[in-house]
Amino acid sequence: MIPENLTEGQLLSLLELLVEQRFTQPPPRYTESTLVKILNVKFSAKMESNLDKIEQHKAGYEETLTKFYQPFKTALEKAKEQKKEIKNELVEKTDIICDKCGRPMVLRWGKNGRFYACSGFPECKNTKPIEEPQVKQSDEICDVCGAPMVIKRGRFGEFLACSNYPKCKNTRPISSAAPIKKGENILLLQQLPQM
Ligand SMILES: [Zn+2]
Ligand SMILES: [Zn+2]
Repeated sequence: MIPENLTEGQLLSLLELLVEQRFTQPPPRYTESTLVKILNVKFSAKMESNLDKIEQHKAGYEETLTKFYQPFKTALEKAKEQKKEIKNELVEKTDIICDKCGRPMVLRWGKNGRFYACSGFPECKNTKPIEEPQVKQSDEICDVCGAPMVIKRGRFGEFLACSNYPKCKNTRPISSAAPIKKGENILLLQQLPQM
């Protein structure tokens, strides 16, 4: 028997199969004409009702498509543009020089977090992973534990951090001297020759 709810494609492959079977081992119960009749009845009935359904819904589909899909498409395109903009905004300048072309490298966001990428992209595709912050010695002493402070590089540039880290988490900005106000500055300069 022919199952219900066959697609046109399935029906055609079934027909092919039946025809093939007929050539190799003819099914005794079906003559060619009854086979075609069965298929025709089922097929045309199904197609007719499908076509009716399509006709009935066609206008509806088209309306839905224009009403829904068009704004959706616009929104999607906008989102794509914004994503690009946001991605570009996330690019951060660094003072690291590309070892391939000499241009400065920038910090970019990738799937696995941040990484250095050449600002010459796409001409230069050089990238490198972010290394652990480089530690430089300083002659400053930690005011919490007395250990020497080291210079570390963070997101906002260099800063002083206690070498006892992580035991001591003391940090301070590099310019640790009390900020000199404008007036004081002039006074200091005036006093300088007398010293
Ligand atoms: Zn480069
Ligand atoms: Zn310390």
